[in-house]
Amino acid sequence: MIKGYKAEVLSLYEQIRENETKALKARKQEIERLYPEITELDQEIGKQSLHLSRSILKAGNNSEALVFEIKNKIMDLRARKYELLVSKGYPQDYLNIHYHCNICKDTGYVGVNPCSCYNAKLVQVYYKNSQLAEAVKKNNFDNWDISLYSSHKTDMEKYSPRKNIETIYQYILKEYIPNFKNHNENLLFFGGPGTGKTFLSDSIAKDLLDSGYLVLYRTSDELIKNFREIKFDNNRDLEDLLINCDLLIIDDLGAEQITEFTITELFNLLNAKLLKNKKMLISTNLSLIDLAKSYTERISSRLIGNFKLCKFYGEDIRVKLNLIKPNKS
Ligand SMILES: [Zn+2]
Repeated sequence: MIKGYKAEVLSLYEQIRENETKALKARKQEIERLYPEITELDQEIGKQSLHLSRSILKAGNNSEALVFEIKNKIMDLRARKYELLVSKGYPQDYLNIHYHCNICKDTGYVGVNPCSCYNAKLVQVYYKNSQLAEAVKKNNFDNWDISLYSSHKTDMEKYSPRKNIETIYQYILKEYIPNFKNHNENLLFFGGPGTGKTFLSDSIAKDLLDSGYLVLYRTSDELIKNFREIKFDNNRDLEDLLINCDLLIIDDLGAEQITEFTITELFNLLNAKLLKNKKMLISTNLSLIDLAKSYTERISSRLIGNFKLCKFYGEDIRVKLNLIKPNKS
Protein backbone atom coordinates (compact mmCIF):
# COMPACT_ATOMS: atom_id res chain seq x y z
CA MET A 1 0.00 0.00 0.00
CA ILE A 2 2.77 2.40 0.92
CA LYS A 3 5.02 1.47 -1.96
CA GLY A 4 3.00 3.61 -4.32
CA TYR A 5 3.23 6.76 -2.19
CA LYS A 6 6.28 8.28 -3.80
CA ALA A 7 4.88 7.76 -7.27
CA GLU A 8 1.56 9.19 -6.16
CA VAL A 9 3.18 12.25 -4.59
CA LEU A 10 5.24 12.86 -7.72
CA SER A 11 2.15 12.57 -9.84
CA LEU A 12 0.56 15.33 -7.71
CA TYR A 13 3.45 17.61 -8.68
CA GLU A 14 3.13 16.54 -12.30
CA GLN A 15 -0.54 17.43 -12.19
CA ILE A 16 0.22 20.88 -10.78
CA ARG A 17 2.82 21.55 -13.47
CA GLU A 18 0.49 20.35 -16.19
CA ASN A 19 -2.38 22.52 -14.96
CA GLU A 20 -0.19 25.58 -14.63
CA THR A 21 1.30 25.08 -18.08
CA LYS A 22 -2.18 24.85 -19.52
CA ALA A 23 -3.29 27.95 -17.63
CA LEU A 24 -0.26 29.88 -18.87
CA LYS A 25 -0.96 28.85 -22.44
CA ALA A 26 -4.53 30.13 -22.13
CA ARG A 27 -3.31 33.45 -20.69
CA LYS A 28 -0.81 33.81 -23.51
CA GLN A 29 -3.49 33.17 -26.11
CA GLU A 30 -5.75 35.73 -24.51
CA ILE A 31 -3.05 38.41 -24.54
CA GLU A 32 -2.08 37.57 -28.12
CA ARG A 33 -5.67 38.08 -29.20
CA LEU A 34 -6.26 41.31 -27.29
CA TYR A 35 -2.81 42.92 -27.12
CA PRO A 36 -0.44 41.50 -29.76
CA GLU A 37 2.11 44.18 -28.92
CA ILE A 38 2.61 42.57 -25.51
CA THR A 39 3.04 39.16 -27.10
CA GLU A 40 5.69 40.59 -29.42
CA LEU A 41 7.59 41.91 -26.42
CA ASP A 42 7.24 38.56 -24.71
CA GLN A 43 8.60 36.73 -27.72
CA GLU A 44 11.48 39.16 -28.04
CA ILE A 45 12.37 38.51 -24.39
CA GLY A 46 12.41 34.81 -25.15
CA LYS A 47 14.71 35.34 -28.11
CA GLN A 48 17.07 37.55 -26.13
CA SER A 49 17.16 35.08 -23.23
CA LEU A 50 18.24 32.35 -25.64
CA HIS A 51 20.83 34.70 -27.09
CA LEU A 52 22.05 35.40 -23.56
CA SER A 53 22.56 31.79 -22.59
CA ARG A 54 24.38 31.11 -25.86
CA SER A 55 26.66 34.10 -25.29
CA ILE A 56 27.45 32.94 -21.77
CA LEU A 57 28.38 29.50 -23.06
CA LYS A 58 30.54 30.92 -25.82
CA ALA A 59 33.72 32.21 -24.21
CA GLY A 60 35.31 35.15 -25.95
CA ASN A 61 37.21 38.37 -25.48
CA ASN A 62 34.29 40.71 -25.47
CA SER A 63 31.69 38.20 -24.23
CA GLU A 64 31.42 39.98 -20.88
CA ALA A 65 30.42 43.23 -22.50
CA LEU A 66 28.01 41.42 -24.77
CA VAL A 67 26.38 39.58 -21.86
CA PHE A 68 26.01 42.86 -20.01
CA GLU A 69 24.40 44.44 -23.05
CA ILE A 70 21.91 41.61 -23.57
CA LYS A 71 21.01 41.55 -19.89
CA ASN A 72 20.22 45.25 -20.03
CA LYS A 73 18.15 44.76 -23.11
CA ILE A 74 16.11 41.99 -21.46
CA MET A 75 15.59 44.13 -18.39
CA ASP A 76 14.34 46.93 -20.55
CA LEU A 77 12.00 44.67 -22.51
CA ARG A 78 10.64 43.17 -19.30
CA ALA A 79 9.97 46.57 -17.80
CA ARG A 80 8.05 47.55 -20.94
CA LYS A 81 6.08 44.31 -20.89
CA TYR A 82 5.16 44.67 -17.21
CA GLU A 83 4.19 48.27 -17.69
CA LEU A 84 1.93 47.42 -20.60
CA LEU A 85 0.34 44.52 -18.73
CA VAL A 86 -0.36 46.61 -15.67
CA SER A 87 -1.72 49.48 -17.77
CA LYS A 88 -4.18 47.01 -19.35
CA GLY A 89 -5.33 45.91 -15.91
CA TYR A 90 -3.35 42.64 -15.61
CA PRO A 91 -0.96 41.62 -12.86
CA GLN A 92 2.64 41.95 -14.01
CA ASP A 93 3.33 38.22 -13.76
CA TYR A 94 0.36 37.38 -15.97
CA LEU A 95 2.59 35.84 -18.64
CA ASN A 96 4.83 33.96 -16.20
CA ILE A 97 4.25 30.41 -15.03
CA HIS A 98 2.69 30.43 -11.55
CA TYR A 99 4.47 28.07 -9.17
CA HIS A 100 2.70 26.73 -6.10
CA CYS A 101 6.14 26.40 -4.52
CA ASN A 102 8.82 28.80 -5.64
CA ILE A 103 11.57 26.82 -3.92
CA CYS A 104 11.30 23.62 -5.95
CA LYS A 105 9.25 25.03 -8.83
CA ASP A 106 6.70 22.28 -8.23
CA THR A 107 9.10 19.42 -8.75
CA GLY A 108 9.09 18.35 -5.08
CA TYR A 109 12.87 18.26 -5.00
CA VAL A 110 15.72 20.65 -4.45
CA GLY A 111 18.67 18.80 -5.93
CA VAL A 112 18.35 15.27 -4.59
CA ASN A 113 16.56 16.29 -1.38
CA PRO A 114 12.80 16.52 -0.94
CA CYS A 115 11.58 20.13 -0.79
CA SER A 116 9.90 21.46 2.33
CA CYS A 117 6.58 21.22 0.51
CA TYR A 118 7.03 17.50 -0.12
CA ASN A 119 5.90 16.41 3.33
CA ALA A 120 2.61 18.22 3.04
CA LYS A 121 1.91 16.39 -0.22
CA LEU A 122 2.87 13.10 1.38
CA VAL A 123 0.44 13.77 4.23
CA GLN A 124 -2.26 14.53 1.68
CA VAL A 125 -1.67 11.25 -0.16
CA TYR A 126 -1.20 9.20 2.97
CA TYR A 127 -4.29 10.58 4.67
CA LYS A 128 -6.44 9.85 1.63
CA ASN A 129 -5.17 6.26 1.53
CA SER A 130 -5.31 5.47 5.21
CA GLN A 131 -8.02 3.78 7.20
CA LEU A 132 -7.66 6.76 9.55
CA ALA A 133 -9.66 8.99 7.23
CA GLU A 134 -12.68 6.79 7.94
CA ALA A 135 -12.01 6.22 11.65
CA VAL A 136 -11.61 9.88 12.56
CA LYS A 137 -15.07 10.73 11.29
CA LYS A 138 -16.27 9.13 14.51
CA ASN A 139 -13.18 9.28 16.68
CA ASN A 140 -12.32 12.94 17.15
CA PHE A 141 -12.29 15.49 19.94
CA ASP A 142 -15.71 16.87 18.96
CA ASN A 143 -17.26 13.52 19.81
CA TRP A 144 -15.52 13.03 23.10
CA ASP A 145 -18.02 12.25 25.86
CA ILE A 146 -16.66 12.42 29.36
CA SER A 147 -19.96 11.26 30.83
CA LEU A 148 -19.07 7.74 29.66
CA TYR A 149 -16.51 7.64 32.46
CA SER A 150 -17.69 7.01 35.97
CA SER A 151 -17.13 9.71 38.57
CA HIS A 152 -17.03 7.09 41.33
CA LYS A 153 -13.64 6.06 42.46
CA THR A 154 -12.77 2.58 43.60
CA ASP A 155 -10.29 1.67 46.31
CA MET A 156 -7.92 0.46 43.61
CA GLU A 157 -7.22 3.94 42.22
CA LYS A 158 -6.51 7.36 43.60
CA TYR A 159 -8.85 9.14 41.17
CA SER A 160 -12.18 8.31 39.60
CA PRO A 161 -12.06 7.20 35.93
CA ARG A 162 -13.58 10.54 34.96
CA LYS A 163 -11.05 12.61 36.86
CA ASN A 164 -8.27 10.45 35.44
CA ILE A 165 -9.33 10.78 31.80
CA GLU A 166 -9.88 14.49 32.27
CA THR A 167 -6.28 14.91 33.39
CA ILE A 168 -5.04 12.98 30.34
CA TYR A 169 -7.18 15.04 27.94
CA GLN A 170 -6.07 18.29 29.49
CA TYR A 171 -2.47 17.32 28.98
CA ILE A 172 -3.09 16.24 25.36
CA LEU A 173 -5.14 19.29 24.41
CA LYS A 174 -3.21 21.96 26.29
CA GLU A 175 0.36 20.71 26.03
CA TYR A 176 0.96 17.74 23.77
CA ILE A 177 -0.83 18.92 20.62
CA PRO A 178 -0.19 22.70 20.79
CA ASN A 179 3.55 22.14 21.44
CA PHE A 180 3.90 19.13 19.19
CA LYS A 181 6.65 20.65 17.10
CA ASN A 182 8.84 21.48 20.08
CA HIS A 183 8.66 18.44 22.35
CA ASN A 184 9.99 14.89 22.12
CA GLU A 185 7.28 13.31 24.19
CA ASN A 186 6.40 9.68 23.51
CA LEU A 187 3.17 8.34 24.91
CA LEU A 188 2.25 4.92 26.23
CA PHE A 189 -1.48 4.41 26.70
CA PHE A 190 -2.11 1.31 28.75
CA GLY A 191 -5.17 -0.14 30.40
CA GLY A 192 -8.03 -2.55 29.88
CA PRO A 193 -10.00 -2.88 26.64
CA GLY A 194 -12.72 -0.34 25.94
CA THR A 195 -11.25 2.42 28.08
CA GLY A 196 -10.87 4.89 25.20
CA LYS A 197 -7.23 4.45 24.15
CA THR A 198 -7.92 4.06 20.43
CA PHE A 199 -10.47 6.86 20.51
CA LEU A 200 -7.91 9.25 21.94
CA SER A 201 -5.14 8.03 19.59
CA ASP A 202 -7.38 8.60 16.57
CA SER A 203 -8.40 12.05 17.83
CA ILE A 204 -4.76 13.04 18.25
CA ALA A 205 -3.97 11.69 14.78
CA LYS A 206 -6.76 13.74 13.24
CA ASP A 207 -5.69 16.99 14.88
CA LEU A 208 -2.07 16.52 13.88
CA LEU A 209 -2.85 15.40 10.32
CA ASP A 210 -5.12 18.41 9.90
CA SER A 211 -2.16 20.56 10.97
CA GLY A 212 0.02 19.00 8.28
CA TYR A 213 2.02 16.50 10.34
CA LEU A 214 2.74 13.10 8.93
CA VAL A 215 1.08 10.64 11.29
CA LEU A 216 1.23 6.92 10.59
CA TYR A 217 -1.22 4.59 12.23
CA ARG A 218 -0.48 0.91 12.56
CA THR A 219 -2.10 -1.85 14.51
CA SER A 220 0.62 -4.08 15.90
CA ASP A 221 -0.33 -6.74 13.32
CA GLU A 222 0.14 -4.28 10.46
CA LEU A 223 3.42 -3.18 11.94
CA ILE A 224 4.73 -6.75 11.93
CA LYS A 225 3.68 -7.07 8.27
CA ASN A 226 5.63 -3.87 7.59
CA PHE A 227 8.68 -5.31 9.38
CA ARG A 228 8.56 -8.33 7.08
CA GLU A 229 8.24 -6.16 4.00
CA ILE A 230 11.25 -4.14 5.06
CA LYS A 231 13.33 -7.15 5.96
CA PHE A 232 12.43 -9.57 3.19
CA ASP A 233 11.32 -7.31 0.32
CA ASN A 234 13.91 -4.68 1.17
CA ASN A 235 11.30 -1.92 1.12
CA ARG A 236 13.47 1.07 2.09
CA ASP A 237 10.73 3.65 1.41
CA LEU A 238 8.57 1.97 3.99
CA GLU A 239 11.39 1.81 6.52
CA ASP A 240 12.08 5.49 5.96
CA LEU A 241 8.43 6.33 6.43
CA LEU A 242 8.14 4.38 9.70
CA ILE A 243 11.27 5.94 11.14
CA ASN A 244 10.90 9.50 9.92
CA CYS A 245 7.18 10.17 10.14
CA ASP A 246 6.30 12.86 12.69
CA LEU A 247 4.27 10.49 14.80
CA LEU A 248 3.98 6.72 14.62
CA ILE A 249 0.94 5.33 16.37
CA ILE A 250 1.11 1.65 17.24
CA ASP A 251 -2.28 0.49 18.32
CA ASP A 252 -2.92 -2.55 20.46
CA LEU A 253 0.63 -3.69 21.09
CA GLY A 254 0.51 -7.20 22.45
CA ALA A 255 -2.40 -8.33 20.29
CA GLU A 256 -0.03 -9.70 17.66
CA GLN A 257 1.87 -12.94 17.78
CA ILE A 258 5.08 -12.22 19.64
CA THR A 259 8.13 -13.93 18.21
CA GLU A 260 11.87 -13.45 18.31
CA PHE A 261 11.62 -11.60 14.99
CA THR A 262 8.92 -9.24 16.30
CA ILE A 263 10.88 -8.43 19.42
CA THR A 264 14.11 -7.71 17.55
CA GLU A 265 12.46 -5.55 14.90
CA LEU A 266 10.37 -3.65 17.43
CA PHE A 267 13.43 -3.00 19.53
CA ASN A 268 15.35 -1.70 16.49
CA LEU A 269 12.48 0.56 15.47
CA LEU A 270 12.12 1.99 18.98
CA ASN A 271 15.82 2.72 19.10
CA ALA A 272 15.95 4.27 15.65
CA LYS A 273 13.08 6.58 16.46
CA LEU A 274 14.37 7.51 19.91
CA LEU A 275 17.76 8.36 18.41
CA LYS A 276 16.17 10.62 15.84
CA ASN A 277 13.72 12.20 18.28
CA LYS A 278 10.79 11.00 16.20
CA LYS A 279 7.70 10.64 18.31
CA MET A 280 5.62 7.55 19.02
CA LEU A 281 2.30 6.78 20.61
CA ILE A 282 1.81 3.18 21.67
CA SER A 283 -1.34 1.76 23.14
CA THR A 284 -1.72 -1.63 24.76
CA ASN A 285 -4.24 -3.62 26.73
CA LEU A 286 -1.41 -5.22 28.65
CA SER A 287 -0.32 -4.09 32.07
CA LEU A 288 3.25 -2.86 32.45
CA ILE A 289 4.18 -6.13 34.14
CA ASP A 290 2.71 -8.23 31.32
CA LEU A 291 4.38 -5.99 28.79
CA ALA A 292 7.75 -6.73 30.34
CA LYS A 293 6.96 -10.46 30.44
CA SER A 294 5.90 -10.59 26.78
CA TYR A 295 8.44 -8.23 25.26
CA THR A 296 11.55 -8.78 27.30
CA GLU A 297 13.11 -6.45 29.76
CA ARG A 298 15.03 -4.41 27.20
CA ILE A 299 11.89 -3.34 25.33
CA SER A 300 9.83 -2.63 28.40
CA SER A 301 12.64 -0.58 29.92
CA ARG A 302 12.78 1.48 26.71
CA LEU A 303 9.04 2.04 26.97
CA ILE A 304 9.01 2.89 30.64
CA GLY A 305 12.13 5.05 30.46
CA ASN A 306 11.28 7.07 27.35
CA PHE A 307 7.51 7.21 27.27
CA LYS A 308 5.04 9.22 29.28
CA LEU A 309 2.80 6.63 30.89
CA CYS A 310 -0.93 7.26 30.72
CA LYS A 311 -3.09 4.73 32.47
CA PHE A 312 -6.65 4.27 31.20
CA TYR A 313 -9.25 2.63 33.38
CA GLY A 314 -12.95 2.40 34.03
CA GLU A 315 -15.79 0.28 32.70
CA ASP A 316 -15.67 -0.94 29.13
CA ILE A 317 -17.10 1.98 27.12
CA ARG A 318 -18.03 -0.20 24.16
CA VAL A 319 -20.14 -2.41 26.40
CA LYS A 320 -21.61 0.67 28.05
CA LEU A 321 -22.46 2.27 24.70
CA ASN A 322 -24.28 -0.87 23.59
CA LEU A 323 -26.23 -0.86 26.81
CA ILE A 324 -27.40 2.73 26.55
CA LYS A 325 -28.11 2.77 22.81
CA PRO A 326 -31.65 1.35 22.96
CA ASN A 327 -32.72 4.06 25.41
CA LYS A 328 -31.33 6.79 23.22
CA SER A 329 -33.33 5.99 20.12
ZN1 LIG B 1 8.64 22.89 -2.93
